[in-house]
Amino acid sequence: MIVEARSITKRFGKFTAVDNLSFTIKEGSITGLIGPNGAGKTTTMGMLTGLIKPSAGEVLVLGKKPEAANKDIGFLPQDAQLHPQRTALDHLTLYGKLKGYTKTEAKEEGKKLLQLFKLQDRKTGQLSHGQRKIVGIAQAILGTPRLIILDEPTAGLDPGMAHHLKQQLLQLRKKATLFISSHNLAELEQLCDEVIIMQEGKLIVQEKLKTFLQQQNSVAITLEQAAGSFVSILKTLKDATVASEANTLTITFSDKDKTPEVIAILVKNKARIRSVHQASLEDSVVKLVHKP
Ligand code: ADP
Ligand code: MG
Repeated sequence: MIVEARSITKRFGKFTAVDNLSFTIKEGSITGLIGPNGAGKTTTMGMLTGLIKPSAGEVLVLGKKPEAANKDIGFLPQDAQLHPQRTALDHLTLYGKLKGYTKTEAKEEGKKLLQLFKLQDRKTGQLSHGQRKIVGIAQAILGTPRLIILDEPTAGLDPGMAHHLKQQLLQLRKKATLFISSHNLAELEQLCDEVIIMQEGKLIVQEKLKTFLQQQNSVAITLEQAAGSFVSILKTLKDATVASEANTLTITFSDKDKTPEVIAILVKNKARIRSVHQASLEDSVVKLVHKP
């Protein structure tokens, strides 16, 4: 295990932001950290990097206190601050030196990263929000630390850059362990092998992504027509709840998967079925965490 969080709690005054959280991160995995705004994701990541001290419990990274593992951790904070008068390459060089590289090595690494993300070496004050985010991400992955923690890396990136970043992160998994928070659950579903879901400071799920989706036991059926009118028709099904949004029905079985039965009912009632698939991570998280 590259990370072990043992009963970590963080209080700000009387408020408990992270409440007795225990989890582990497997070396070589991509783990997604999911939860609504204010769930405690950023605070948890802060404790993993050593920037925030737990009020109780302890974190071990590679068996050491996070401060002692500093050189093995790359971190993109949610609101990474850059010096507006310094160029992107200045930042990367400085950061590389902090990580133990010589100035020449750090500059070389920085140049490679600028090229990789097609970023011009301008003063960061003259870059767009998304471009500044890329500088922060480049800092976090510079030198490929063993543990890379990214707090909402794709928030604010254009779709092309978000896609490019996703490809790069998948490449990195061969050499590093990634811990990524995001509200873009479709993206996390493509990236992650493990998910941790938090709500109000507590851990509610730590599971392999595949297992979590199977446990949800939900099927999403997309129709050629609006799905709403089929909700009441499917009420006859036992041990299942049915919801609709636009052309899609999401059916959750409390016991056995009855997808063939559902399809038979739909066809009999003249539904034109476009696709049938397992409910997505987004469907499952919305159902679990953002219950109406
Ligand atoms: P998330 O990243 O999941 O949106 P955060 O970890 O940023 O959540 O915050 C969790 C909770 O802790 C929020 O209610 C937030 O207001 C509170 N919080 C975070 N940092 C501080 C702080 N420095 N002082 C007081 N409260 C804080
Ligand atoms: Mg946050």
